[in-house]
Amino acid sequence: MTRFICSACGAAYAIQEPRWKCDCGHILDLSFEPRFPIDHIRNRKPTMWRYKEAIPLWNEVTPVSFDEGFTPLLAVEIENRPVYIKQEHLFQTGSYKDRGASVLLSVVNALGISRVVEDSSGNAGAAIAAYGAAAGIACDIYVPADTSPAKLSQIQGYGASLHKIPGTRDDTARAIWEAAQTMYYASHSWNPFFFHGTKTFAFEVVEQLGWKAPDTVILPVGNGTLLLGAALGFSELQQAGIIQTIPRLIGVQAEHCAPLYYKNKNITDFRVQKTLAEGIAIASPIRGEQIMEAVNRSGGYFIAVGEDEIPHALAAMSRKGFWIEPTAAATIAGVRRYLLQEPDPQEILVSAFTGHGLKRASAAF
Ligand SMILES: *Cc1c(COP(=O)(O)O)cnc(C)c1O
Ligand SMILES: [Zn+2]
Repeated sequence: MTRFICSACGAAYAIQEPRWKCDCGHILDLSFEPRFPIDHIRNRKPTMWRYKEAIPLWNEVTPVSFDEGFTPLLAVEIENRPVYIKQEHLFQTGSYKDRGASVLLSVVNALGISRVVEDSSGNAGAAIAAYGAAAGIACDIYVPADTSPAKLSQIQGYGASLHKIPGTRDDTARAIWEAAQTMYYASHSWNPFFFHGTKTFAFEVVEQLGWKAPDTVILPVGNGTLLLGAALGFSELQQAGIIQTIPRLIGVQAEHCAPLYYKNKNITDFRVQKTLAEGIAIASPIRGEQIMEAVNRSGGYFIAVGEDEIPHALAAMSRKGFWIEPTAAATIAGVRRYLLQEPDPQEILVSAFTGHGLKRASAAF
């Protein structure tokens, strides 16, 4: 039976409860047994919902969906090597956050909740607002005041109430905390349902490679919603016997905000500064321990990219006809670094374009 479970105190709760954290204050996960009826899956519509037996909704829940997912997996030449880049900027709201928002808002809708709060550096807020609009659920979205204007108008355009909070991303997280005491917190970092949406990234990669796991997957890490989702997805596929090993997971952070990169090296006195990669500027990720464990268990590690590497990667991708946002370019800068460090020509390498270029207000930054 699917339940919320707390790894800190051992508590378990029914998933029909409107909850996003444990009574002890800790994050929750879901205990859940996915199924992968491959012969059925193959014949379904190419959306993330083709894996419906692997998504923890109870029977009567109808997905809130734009037929999202099954994004192309394109071989893109980087440092003279083909790298499979999943085109995660091609979602309804322009980022892969739609995977998580679709599952989470399906749950919120099924619970009959009419208003949610969420905080975000922009893209998660836009995704929650869009799926909220589709389901007729009111959304209060808290964002740092200096978030890209294109993301702010997107959130407002969907009809959400926008709360611009002065200061850092962490100041926004503190402001939401108060609101979340009385309203349902549709959080992409706290709420485990979000990760059971982003995990479909791994299912699609494996199916698109002919039901095979890649060797290495390079993903961004702020709150780790894509990396942890991917780790969960690969581990479910392994437990189901569909893949033998979990790919090595490489987490990319911006050097200006790289708490897990430093903690993993036991460095405690690091500074946090503003970065062009606004979407991953998370100084204290809620699931930091889980992210480090997933990366280390897979045999991977963290890369921290410098501010000068981000525009370089962005320009290189634009010249090939890909239009991505600076945060997405930070991951590609990490891919370049990885390839210079570990030039194994046999390796099957996967990464992602996480956000669309139209999300940034101007071409110069
Ligand atoms: C959300 C997001 C990421 C990853 O951020 P996490 O905080 O690790 O979930 C990366 N790129 C873009 C464009 C995003 O919107
Ligand atoms: Zn607990």
